[in-house]
Amino acid sequence: MGEQLDAAVKQATPCPRCAADIPYDERFTKWCTACDWNVDQSDEEPPLSRFEAARRRLAPRHGEQLHRQLLDGGPGATTTTDRSHVLARAVALAVHAVTAVLAVGGALLVVLGRPRYLLCAFGAILSTAAVAPWPRWPSTS
Ligand SMILES: [Zn+2]
Repeated sequence: MGEQLDAAVKQATPCPRCAADIPYDERFTKWCTACDWNVDQSDEEPPLSRFEAARRRLAPRHGEQLHRQLLDGGPGATTTTDRSHVLARAVALAVHAVTAVLAVGGALLVVLGRPRYLLCAFGAILSTAAVAPWPRWPSTS
């Protein structure tokens, strides 16, 4: 996969403004690092609608306002005492509690219900069902 990425990036084209070589990947927009050609395409293309024009006019103002709020630690900044964070943690805790009950309950049924094979089978099913909601960490590769 790394070779495919290298092959895609090694393509180059001359800059129409300063003639410097622009290495580019076909999946992304080309721009020149020497003269900033094509960095901001919003000035070159006319807005498609009045909504698009309003969005372009308001986006820098809202971006700067959000940046200031984040720097000041204001309402835009992330806090762990936020109500939505508490609710998200409560939901996550409930999901993991169900997972733990399935895993532990299934294992207990398998171990303690030994002479009764139906209980053992039910315990195995519960233990297997506990695997589906088990938390997964993103792979590092
Ligand atoms: Zn250029």
